[in-house]
Amino acid sequence: MHKGSCLCGAVAFELDETPRAPIACHCKQCRRQSGHVFAAGHVPKEAVRMIREDGLAWYRASEKATRGFCGTCGSTLFWRADDGPEIGVALGALDDPTGLGLTRHVWVGDKGDYYEIADGLPQDEH
Ligand SMILES: [Zn+2]
Repeated sequence: MHKGSCLCGAVAFELDETPRAPIACHCKQCRRQSGHVFAAGHVPKEAVRMIREDGLAWYRASEKATRGFCGTCGSTLFWRADDGPEIGVALGALDDPTGLGLTRHVWVGDKGDYYEIADGLPQDEH
């Protein structure tokens, strides 16, 4: 059972499934919102059970997706496509140990110039 929360605790959740295929997304939206890189694993939307959500806010980042965060402390928490069955859950929000490992980097074409990716994982341009 994976549990997660924001920094202040106004958002807390449990996952009924293990996040699959954890990725690090280097797109500009993820970098702006997270402050660096957004690492996320994916579960079916119905596999997220909210324990506390009074802080949960959603930002419509594009015509296709919204981004969930804590309106009190600002923690980056979720990425949700309008039409997909899954939701991306921020790995940094999960309680340790997660037992998970990144599988690839995506949107590397958008990555910042202030760091290198040197872990040997596959890199997708988009
Ligand atoms: Zn919070």
